[in-house]
Amino acid sequence: VRRPLVLANWKMNMAPDQVKPYLATVLPEVEKDEAADVAIAAQDLYLPEMLSLTASSRLMLSAENAHWTDDGAYTGETSPKALAALGVDYVLIGHFERRKLFNETDERVNLKTKAALKNGLKPIVDLDEDLSAYASADPKTVVLKQLALALDGISETAMKNVVIAYEPTWAIGSGEAASAEQAEKSAALIRASLANLYSPALAEQTRILYGGSVTTKNAADFLSQEDIDGILVGKAALDPKQFLELIDIAQ
Ligand code: 13P
Repeated sequence: VRRPLVLANWKMNMAPDQVKPYLATVLPEVEKDEAADVAIAAQDLYLPEMLSLTASSRLMLSAENAHWTDDGAYTGETSPKALAALGVDYVLIGHFERRKLFNETDERVNLKTKAALKNGLKPIVDLDEDLSAYASADPKTVVLKQLALALDGISETAMKNVVIAYEPTWAIGSGEAASAEQAEKSAALIRASLANLYSPALAEQTRILYGGSVTTKNAADFLSQEDIDGILVGKAALDPKQFLELIDIAQ
């Protein structure tokens, strides 16, 4: 009963003049089948134009980050309140690249998740897992610890608007995706942990995405897993044709 979500993460890619042609290719096709939710995460700069181009489409938009307060003296940051006011649906919180390159801590991930929810944005909370964690005796503790810290103090009611993304660090941008079985194992552990933190019912309805070197070749394997409810796609989704193919696979 969980609706699949296919989410493109453009990261800091795409030139301004590529945005419109990309959407012109994708939008008509997206309307043809509604079995999966479809969204694109783009840099803030492009969101207003994209919002206007997608106004009559079911394609949803996501920011790639947002601050934990609504406004104030935070030069260079993006307000979750402003994103919500513009009509942005989702926001990525705690992406691996933000954790690794921009010192995003579990505490900030938690604050940002709360701020997004308060403003009516749907946070996509990213959990990563580095290779050393994966190779260690109890690899999943890293991910489950991140999960518990990210969701600290968030109510079960608010959780209905949260999406979890599991992205093993070593699979991101490496061309080396996790195997579908590995990813399923982690997704199942995350779901079991949600049942503990909240309730079996909440765990049952929470969407868990897999991300990390998803391609048109391996997407079906991930999407056919019991506990994987969608895909978070970087590189492959920079090509609108491949993004469409991925959406097709999900429906
Ligand atoms: P790639 O699909 O390029 O590995 O990126 C994954 C990712 O980080 C999506 O958020």
